[in-house]
Amino acid sequence: MTPFAGRDVFVFDLDNTLYPADHAIFGAIGDRMTAYVQRLTGLPADEALALQNRYYHLYGATVVGLQRHHGVDPATFMADVHDVSFDGVAPDPELAGLIGALPGRRFVFTNGARTYAHEIIAHLGFGDVFERIVSLEDVDWIPKPEPEAFARMAALCGFAPARAVMFEDHALNLAAAKGLGFATVLVGATAVAGPTVDHATPSLHAFLRTALTPPPPAPSQHQ
Ligand SMILES: [Mg+2]
Repeated sequence: MTPFAGRDVFVFDLDNTLYPADHAIFGAIGDRMTAYVQRLTGLPADEALALQNRYYHLYGATVVGLQRHHGVDPATFMADVHDVSFDGVAPDPELAGLIGALPGRRFVFTNGARTYAHEIIAHLGFGDVFERIVSLEDVDWIPKPEPEAFARMAALCGFAPARAVMFEDHALNLAAAKGLGFATVLVGATAVAGPTVDHATPSLHAFLRTALTPPPPAPSQHQ
């Protein structure tokens, strides 16, 4: 486990990390968010989408902007927009096996809603791979990338960030995690390592496969 030396807590983001960003389900949730913002504000679709995106980038989750600026009840919003079909999502037994083989405690930490997170984790076939799924409700609606979100998540689950690795598709979220002491792995086609990204990989599957492979025997001291 060379990339994770001294670390035995593994925390995974959900959307775009444990299943693909371009999935139909993600689009369906986005469409429901836009429709909700339209109903809420009376804005045309393009302006509603722009507002939704602004809150997403500003707060890390659209729901936080709607709660703070429009008085929207977050639980109601999350239940509405996550009422989508999982039919297009294929179970991922390989990833379940890889994560399940990580030697330590394993968690999901998402800016998404509790019910949705549990449903999609079950649908992906991750069963009891994770000790706990921490959703936005569990950290009092404080979203990543606020450092407080990571601090609350770690306190809730009872681990020190210096023992943990965070897997994420958002570099901004990893910067906050890194500041608290997490080791960081950025997942995504264009991911690159940097000051707040310890490891970058286009494929979580490939990264974990390599990380779980025992290192070769030490080379001979003779040149
Ligand atoms: Mg994500």
